[in-house]
Amino acid sequence: MRIILLGPPGAGKGTQAEKLAAHLNIPKISTGDMLRAAVSEGTDLGRQAQEYMDSGKLVPDAVIIDLVENRVSAPDCKNGCLLDGFPRTLVQAKALDRAGIDLDYVVELVVDDEEIVQRMSGRLSHPGSGRSYHKIFNPPKVEWVDDITGDPLVQREDDKEETVRHRLHVYHKQTAPMVEFYRGLSTDCPKFVEVQGVGKVDEVFERILSELNI
Ligand code: AMP
Repeated sequence: MRIILLGPPGAGKGTQAEKLAAHLNIPKISTGDMLRAAVSEGTDLGRQAQEYMDSGKLVPDAVIIDLVENRVSAPDCKNGCLLDGFPRTLVQAKALDRAGIDLDYVVELVVDDEEIVQRMSGRLSHPGSGRSYHKIFNPPKVEWVDDITGDPLVQREDDKEETVRHRLHVYHKQTAPMVEFYRGLSTDCPKFVEVQGVGKVDEVFERILSELNI
């Protein structure tokens, strides 16, 4: 089963993708995670990507398409995969189609922009472990301090309010035509479904499962 999970930054895509991939026993492929790993390893790809990522811009299509085409042809994707954060543009969606990578479902998580700004601009991260907190919804015991290690917490460059608003603008501008592309495909595959991303993690997950007929 091949699934694409779409949604604005901060919609909870990563969390839902993790659960869904585990449920279906297929690998989760997150372009954001792959790029962040490349940045922290200091590879050529990471150096190319960092500036775009820090300013909330999309990494150029050619770079991303190459990365994903290589990844989905790996043996662990034989029985399918879940794509999280790719495609993000019409060019990427068409490249996937041209590469003959057939999809079963395209799921769009829908969350209001203001809700996202509130969620993301309050997010704090522990750089060593990736542990995350939220100033309002999940505060650390001591402000700006990791509960487990006592290390200082940081706000990811791309979680700052101005950057979040820019990323939402980019999402709507570049992703909407892609959603239209999937909606408009004349065949039933992939099936395009919209799922409300507001509510508890498990509630959203149940909503996704009920749309997938599995
Ligand atoms: P994410 O964690 O999915 O929100 O991705 C973080 C950042 O990585 C984005 O703001 C982009 O700069 C970059 N990125 C991730 N996936 C893509 C993609 N499919 N196309 C272009 N840029 C991407």
